[in-house]
Amino acid sequence: MRMSIMLTLSLLVSATLVVPAVFADDPVPEDVMKLHRKALVFDAHCDTAMRLVGGRAIDIGIRQERGHMDLPRMREGGLDAQIFACWPNPRRERDVYVKQTLQMIDALWEQSRLHAEDFEIALEGKDIKRIVKSGKLAGIIGIEGGHAIMADLGVLRDYHRLGVRCMTLTWMNTNEWADSSDDSTKWGGLNDLGREVVREMDRLGMIIDCSHVSDSTLFDVFEVTENPVLISHSCMRAICDIPRNVSDDELRALEKNGGVICINYFPGFLDKEFNGAVTEIWQEFRASADSLAGVYEGDREKAWDELRPEYMERMEALDSPTIGALVDHIDHAVGIVGIDHVGLGSDFDGISITPVGLDDVTDLPAITSELRHRGYSKKDIEKILGGNLLRLAERVIR
Ligand SMILES: [Zn+2]
Repeated sequence: MRMSIMLTLSLLVSATLVVPAVFADDPVPEDVMKLHRKALVFDAHCDTAMRLVGGRAIDIGIRQERGHMDLPRMREGGLDAQIFACWPNPRRERDVYVKQTLQMIDALWEQSRLHAEDFEIALEGKDIKRIVKSGKLAGIIGIEGGHAIMADLGVLRDYHRLGVRCMTLTWMNTNEWADSSDDSTKWGGLNDLGREVVREMDRLGMIIDCSHVSDSTLFDVFEVTENPVLISHSCMRAICDIPRNVSDDELRALEKNGGVICINYFPGFLDKEFNGAVTEIWQEFRASADSLAGVYEGDREKAWDELRPEYMERMEALDSPTIGALVDHIDHAVGIVGIDHVGLGSDFDGISITPVGLDDVTDLPAITSELRHRGYSKKDIEKILGGNLLRLAERVIR
């Protein structure tokens, strides 16, 4: 059904546009597949670590029915390296942030022990290429949300000792030292402690990730850091004007800094109208989950189990943007900062819906296909798929 609508639409569109989008379900041509396999594909952000803990923890060595990623599917999609974000839920009581983070770090190490043939954690920049060359997936441990350090530089250093090599300074919450783009302005960017955190991350060799931060926080980071900055999973405000996305001015500053922006696949960040629809459904179900959790003695997970089928049905009924919309964001970023500062930041396993034609990590070659279709050279595609992020990681992490 969807396919026939797309075909009709694209026949109409192709009469007026020079480059119609590749059909979502088209098979990827062999030469594109070859290019995709040859490239080092490196994604800057996923939430898969969250699925490795708790009562329903998965084993990433086993192909899963749900979610977007596991080792067999990563292999199939040609993914070579991945930053795994460990995210402590700031809506939980503050006391458990460190424990939650430690549990996810441990789960990643355990998975690397259980699947030593397939998966290795990189601790230094030079490890990434070596691991990939040996035929394994390279994992980099990240933390999403600076609240995880509980305003303590010692905790930050401990995380580094445990192998954490990247931290997103805020999540959707403003924390003790940095403002978020989705929360109140408390510090006007970074406060003194925030500046110390950034300097300490530089000294330790940790990637500073500025997805989720407020505009002022980002510009403060550019002033303090000596390293190229990562924006691991954000989209273009020029196309989808929401605070969570990045403005052209911010992109220009990022280029000057030598950093890399990696584009998020979430349809709600790709398209403003879609964002409105998604937000409406999300708010409705969050309210339902709140009241239903009361019935289950505060167990929100149980409440969500009950609500999820209807929630997913409503989400999936929306007319989601396509891979073409995702590549529009890549195009815009490249237009502003050039080819050397753009990459991929899927947000897989952290997003409930994905663009049409990109159901999970196995569909990654479809992005390569669309890039090739739009005339990007092989060399440029290799940079977007992972070359740029690899340059940043090799420079920063140790
Ligand atoms: Zn995020």
